[in-house]
Amino acid sequence: MTTALTWQDAVITAAAPETTRVRRLTLAVGWSRPFRAGQHVDVRLTAPDGYQAQRSYSIASSPTVLPTIDLLIERLDDGEVSGFFSDVAEPGDAIELRGPIGGSFVWDPEMGGPLLLVGGGSGVVPLLGMLRHRAEAAPGVPALLLYSARTAEEVIAREELTRRDAEEPGFRLMLTLTRSLDGRRIDAARIAEALAALGTPAHTFVCGANPFVSAVSDLLVEAGLPARTIRTERFGG
Ligand SMILES: Cc1cc2nc3c(=O)[nH]c(=O)nc-3n(C[C@H](O)[C@H](O)[C@H](O)COP(=O)(O)OP(=O)(O)OC[C@H]3O[C@@H](n4cnc5c(N)ncnc54)[C@H](O)[C@@H]3O)c2cc1C
Repeated sequence: MTTALTWQDAVITAAAPETTRVRRLTLAVGWSRPFRAGQHVDVRLTAPDGYQAQRSYSIASSPTVLPTIDLLIERLDDGEVSGFFSDVAEPGDAIELRGPIGGSFVWDPEMGGPLLLVGGGSGVVPLLGMLRHRAEAAPGVPALLLYSARTAEEVIAREELTRRDAEEPGFRLMLTLTRSLDGRRIDAARIAEALAALGTPAHTFVCGANPFVSAVSDLLVEAGLPARTIRTERFGG
């Protein structure tokens, strides 16, 4: 019997640029276990000499689209595994994968909201999975995505998020661009703005690189949110 910890082959069925730095890969996975929005998979690459590299990637797609999943992988300078997925991997390739993994950084429709999602860079990926699932399964749950990206061109799923903001009454997108002309970071004022627009969140999810998650978590606690309602996922860096 295979479990979430069994390595299995997954086949890349599609690959396309998502932004200048991020590539979207669709994979046909060898399992049909339902997953929870926010979970991730582990991938393992093996070189001809036996050297192995293993990394985690969040699932961007909604659980309802199994048996395929979408990953959104940002190319990092000198990145061993992200470099492979950005430049080398192509549709038809099989890669080793295991999952779904993660029991804390997850949102199920029964958990309800309001839902505050705060993402930095590729940290938006598991939050996208949550938003996609919310739109299908619990569109009445109020949700706000506070998303920090470097530039407008680097906003992942920009068209989709802008459309959801316009069309979904319960969803609000707040973008913060750090390297635009009037660039700013997520600060206490931005958090206050988000909380004023959403109301007090029942659940808050924060995801991104280590410094981003630490800074935002501190701001949220300083803004009065109980720490037990805040869940974090750190991508490294
Ligand atoms: C649970 C989880 C989910 C993740 N989901 C995603 C995802 O959906 N999309 C995605 O693109 N990545 C995701 N990551 C990050 C991913 O696992 C890898 O760490 C990332 O792709 C870098 O691997 P690499 O082999 O390319 O870089 P490495 O060769 O390991 O590192 C190259 C350089 O980049 C630095 N670095 C490593 N990680 C980061 C980072 N996150 N930010 C800034 N600098 C970094 C290293 O210190 C090093 O200097 C996730 C991580 C975790 C733990």
